[in-house]
Amino acid sequence: MRHFRRRVLVTGGAGFIGSHLCERLLGAGHHVICVDNFFTGVRENVAALLANPYFELLRHDVTFPLSVEVDEIYNLACPASPIHYQQDPVQTTKTSVLGAINMLGLAKRLKVRILQASTSEVYGDPQVHPQPEGYWGNVNPIGPRACYDEGKRCAETLFFDYHRQHGVPIRVARIFNTYGPRMHPNDGRVVSNFIMQALTGQPLTIFGDGSQTRSFCYVDDMVTALIALMESDSPAAVGPINIGNPGEFTMLDLATLVIRLTGSRSRLETRPLPQDDPRQRRPDITRIGQLAGWVPEVGLEEGLRRTIAYFRTQHEIGPMLQAA
Ligand code: NAD
Ligand code: UDP
Ligand code: UDP
Repeated sequence: MRHFRRRVLVTGGAGFIGSHLCERLLGAGHHVICVDNFFTGVRENVAALLANPYFELLRHDVTFPLSVEVDEIYNLACPASPIHYQQDPVQTTKTSVLGAINMLGLAKRLKVRILQASTSEVYGDPQVHPQPEGYWGNVNPIGPRACYDEGKRCAETLFFDYHRQHGVPIRVARIFNTYGPRMHPNDGRVVSNFIMQALTGQPLTIFGDGSQTRSFCYVDDMVTALIALMESDSPAAVGPINIGNPGEFTMLDLATLVIRLTGSRSRLETRPLPQDDPRQRRPDITRIGQLAGWVPEVGLEEGLRRTIAYFRTQHEIGPMLQAA
């Protein structure tokens, strides 16, 4: 029997997606314990929640054991942008693998549900398009993205083995590119880069010829889907389950849209394509639709408008802008 008001652990809760998840869970009446080592997350992301008596913030690194008493766990701790996860690749793999072991050990002891924030990067540079969950992927195990991709793949292995060997109730969500307010302005990801460049009148940096594609999901839609997956009692909810917006855009499309929505006079400038950069990416979201009736509601144009509005507020506070 699952209670209406639960104690929910969110690792990586001070990050971009995690902070929105904490906010939504508190709004639904749950008690939230947010664990973060502030590698990429910041206290400001959860500052508005600190006054809530049902919110607790713990500074902790998930590569070390953690003892808390909770009713369910969302495991989001891990840097997500290539610039951040390549800064200390060994720590990135440790966070995914040791973090998964520790959080799964915790879930096993407490006999509670645990959701893993996995990634579309488990498909690498995919040779099947769009990507269904049954596709095993095309990942370079020794390239610069491997610390993230292989770390997340190993975490999935651990989740399924704890499930089969120890009966831990798991949920594995494969998250595709997500954007929205509270993205780091200078984390090097394409949406934040283009918006910051457009707002500051700098050239938009197109890596390669800009014909590579991505599918961008607005953060509110993502959080709705993660919670729906956690709540689902269907045996299929174990996953893995793709979550993303199937709208597919080239980086040139995205740059043109950002320039139009910001009214910027910035021009486009090409830069070399980073090694192992996936050519195309789009989720097949049939499974999550069947399981939870979920489809994304916020299109790219509307989502970008909201994100640009957020970045404009960052713009006004100056220092972050200069760092970008
Ligand atoms: P983010 O970098 O904003 O958030 C990650 C959070 O984890 C940060 O607050 C960071 O400080 C924390 N963290 C990192 N290492 C930690 C450790 N060892 N111990 C405790 N906390 C640690 O990134 P995000 O975009 O919010 O991503 C959240 C999760 O979703 C990640 O697991 C990421 O891999 C996954 N994901 C995100 C995307 C996306 O497009 N944003 C896509 C696929 C998967
Ligand atoms: N663990 C934890 N909190 C708990 C229970 C376990 O952090 O409440 C960690 C524990 O330190 C161990 C990991 O989870 O490193 C895996 O636990 P498990 O019970 O699977 O393995 P074992 O303790 O037998 O190595
Ligand atoms: N990209 C780009 N300009 C930038 C940053 C990224 O053209 O300033 C490209 C990048 O090469 C990739 C796509 O945009 O093809 C998405 O990059 P991001 O780092 O946001 O996400 P990921 O590659 O992890 O999907």
